[in-house]
Amino acid sequence: MPEAFAYAPAPESRSIVSIRSSYGLFIDGEFVAPTDGRTFKTIDPSTEEVLAEVYEAGPKDVDRAVAAARRAYETTWGSMKPSERGKYLYRIARLVQERSRELAVLESIDNGKPIRESRDIDLPLVAAHFFYYAGWADKLPHAGYGPNPRPIGVAGQGIPWNFPLLMLAWKIAPALATGNTVVLKPAETTPLTALHFAEIVQQAGLPNGVVNIVTGAGETGRSLVTHPDVDKVAFTGSTEVGKEIARSIAGTSKKVTLELGGKAANVVFEDAALDQAVEGIVEGIFFNQGHVCCAGSRLLVQESIVDDLMMRLKRRLETLRVGDPLDKNTDIGAINSFEQLAKIRELSDIGDQEGAERWSPACELPDRGFWFPPTVFTGVSQAHRIAREEIFGPVLSVLTFRTPEEAVEKANNTPYGLSAGVWTEKGSRILWMAQRLRAGVVWANTFNKFDPASPFGGYKESGYGREGGRHGLGGYLDV
Ligand code: NDP
Repeated sequence: MPEAFAYAPAPESRSIVSIRSSYGLFIDGEFVAPTDGRTFKTIDPSTEEVLAEVYEAGPKDVDRAVAAARRAYETTWGSMKPSERGKYLYRIARLVQERSRELAVLESIDNGKPIRESRDIDLPLVAAHFFYYAGWADKLPHAGYGPNPRPIGVAGQGIPWNFPLLMLAWKIAPALATGNTVVLKPAETTPLTALHFAEIVQQAGLPNGVVNIVTGAGETGRSLVTHPDVDKVAFTGSTEVGKEIARSIAGTSKKVTLELGGKAANVVFEDAALDQAVEGIVEGIFFNQGHVCCAGSRLLVQESIVDDLMMRLKRRLETLRVGDPLDKNTDIGAINSFEQLAKIRELSDIGDQEGAERWSPACELPDRGFWFPPTVFTGVSQAHRIAREEIFGPVLSVLTFRTPEEAVEKANNTPYGLSAGVWTEKGSRILWMAQRLRAGVVWANTFNKFDPASPFGGYKESGYGREGGRHGLGGYLDV
């Protein structure tokens, strides 16, 4: 890298967060040991250092948590005056803001994401979600779900490891605002911010049992979503597990929302502002190491500008800094787990075998931890697995098109339908594209922008139901 771009280290201090050596399950307002005492370790993926020991909840623990949530629903939360519920949510939002530096550092340590993102994107959005849904708590009769919308009851919620605290906020804030109680299971590799959030629940003085957090692996998640006393299942994760959940609850009275995988097309037309488009492409696929369900992992470029755009993109990628997640200059942090790294490597190797051309900027990767360089595949065809399957890593597949019709055809040629991006100077073309793209979110001249007031969710194998905004209330109301 040229000398002018060599940055001095700018590490964020870890001392703001005190990580305990072990954490209990959070059930009925307190941290408790599980019935059978099984534990697992959570590590820092950038160093492989063990951070803490966490309990693995078994079926009896899930039972206890669901029972606590049921009690809280029936005795306090479900019948509480809505404006009172709102006050608790505002309190949580303010406490998240107060502790945001601690939570951002902890998120980066446990997940591997750059502190720049956890501090400036994840944590502000977490607080914003609680503020937003706090505002709805006493206005539900005006939300378009009838004059007296009722909660569903006990929600069992499963979240992934890519945005641990933000996905928690997406799940818990609307559930509580509408009067439900929750049992949430964080992902096995990223349980720590959810457990610190449990402390915030205590600090906010929430009645016992309104929020319960059970840590564990897939088996714990399965016990939770299949529990007979859970009324509503909300899940974000892989399409494979989403299908298993849908099968397991078929024939029951449970309500369900599923937010699953994606393989979004980011479509760049020849009239687009190319330097801005390059920023959007980078934001689309290299944000959060590409561990993003709505990532712009398929770049569709109009053929006339492909050489120019690729030259600009490669020049920009040469400037990305990969490394220590706690360094404030880092753009790309660590891959979340060894398993995920293996999957990214496997699919990238398949890209080579299928004849696509791989390119990465020169970058030194740390010796310890899980790392993958930003990678671009050109010469990709629609039949290639790297154009069809979710890689969930910093890997971009580039395809070309000649006409808008062909762009739509190719963009929609996927089993998924979560998001898409369009880059053009023409407003009319944006509207024309947005009407034809089968995607829950279409970003125009931007990418990966989130707001608590905007609904988010997919078509086809990307799942069903919407989270966020007024629409996000519907999944937690008995309507
Ligand atoms: P999973 O779908 O397995 O994990 C998501 C969550 O579900 C985790 O909390 C997981 O627990 C839990 N879980 C696992 N099995 C079950 C089950 N049978 N019933 C209920 N809950 C369950 O995703 P992975 O972490 O295995 O990632 C695999 C792939 O999925 C990724 O490579 C990526 O392609 C995709 N993915 C997509 C996401 C998205 O937002 N669209 C998010 C995460 C992954 P635990 O972590 O403890 O196993």
